[in-house]
Amino acid sequence: MKRVFLAAIVSLLSFSSIAFAQTMPADADPALWARALKLHKQSIIVDGHNDITGPMVDADFNLGDSSVGKLQPSGDPMHTDLARLKASGMTGEFMSIYVGADTWRSGRAMVRAMELIDATNREAERHKDLIPCTTADEIRRAKKAGKICLLMGIEGGYAIDNSLYALRNFYRLGVRYMTLTHNAAHDWADAHRDIKHNGLTDFGKEVVREMNRLGMLVDISHVSEKVMMDVLDITKAPLIASHSGARGVNDHTRNVSDAVLRRLPQNGGVIMVVFYPSFLDERTNREENERTARLKPQVDALREQYKNDPAAMNKAIADLEEKNPIYVADYKRIVDHIDHIKKVAGIDHAGIGSDYDGVPFLPSPMKGTEDLALVTYEMLRRGYTDVEVRKVLGENFLRAFSQAEKVAGNRRISADGSLVKFKK
Ligand SMILES: [Zn+2]
Repeated sequence: MKRVFLAAIVSLLSFSSIAFAQTMPADADPALWARALKLHKQSIIVDGHNDITGPMVDADFNLGDSSVGKLQPSGDPMHTDLARLKASGMTGEFMSIYVGADTWRSGRAMVRAMELIDATNREAERHKDLIPCTTADEIRRAKKAGKICLLMGIEGGYAIDNSLYALRNFYRLGVRYMTLTHNAAHDWADAHRDIKHNGLTDFGKEVVREMNRLGMLVDISHVSEKVMMDVLDITKAPLIASHSGARGVNDHTRNVSDAVLRRLPQNGGVIMVVFYPSFLDERTNREENERTARLKPQVDALREQYKNDPAAMNKAIADLEEKNPIYVADYKRIVDHIDHIKKVAGIDHAGIGSDYDGVPFLPSPMKGTEDLALVTYEMLRRGYTDVEVRKVLGENFLRAFSQAEKVAGNRRISADGSLVKFKK
């Protein structure tokens, strides 16, 4: 009880003492900026991917505390807390239930997923402005009630440990999408840079069908191009890419090709554009890779020097990188990807999938969740209509999510937890 009470006080204090001014672009037209902020505030905004769940488990981070200027245990900067989420105008944030291949190899994949799910629910219990959501309708209702939905998506199919029983239980726990892999292939699907099966195995196809039956969205971020095509061949429901860009703008394996984009009108899916500058921009990616290789001896030495003091290690590495700056693409590059998806697939197939707290830096001058309105501004500046902007910010996702719910229909799990049989 005491802990809950203290948390409530802390969250109250953070609301009253921290006011985030949205960063107006230096060259902005003030009238258009005002229009952008107004539209942004009115819109339902759903972000496909947020990794703040890691610090919530690993550092017991409470969303009521300020994350401004702080580093994660991994050394990456923090982008999210409750005050920043409120300033961002967010309606639905997908909290990532991220399980990497190393965790899978250590045998802790499912336990790790359980920890992240618990941490997400705990935050929703702690803070009156946050609520757990599992349906498109709940997201719409949350907007009316002025609340922020916490949704959950599993990142990396490792978490189900090759078990459809586990998959169904994750659905029961509220998980509403699953990214089929992370960066390494596993027993039933290939990853974007790790090919073992030439796509989905027979069991992998079974996983996709079961996800359709449950109403869990299939997420094609991180998977190989062949897996994307296999999913498109099988799925009866729209797919999502929870945090990917377009290869037509930056030819990176984490992005989605035009061949996949061209199949989206038929499928109804949404590519939720990632904010990581190295996925968005070829030059940033190249300079980041070059810097990583160049500084490796120094970083290794710092890791050795500070091996018993992770905080000092993180700071020393961050300082070293700051002294070796690279070109960082700005927020307009996000909209280049949205533009490309609009051109190839249509405006109905673009969304937002930041990867906040899962990336080492954001497009300039973004500092965290609070700067989301820059994307809205840039879309308006390029002549997007209000309806188009709303589609990208959240309506496209809601349409795809509702459609996945309809496909599941009366085949989903009944209220008492038993499986409802397929209708012939
Ligand atoms: Zn990811």
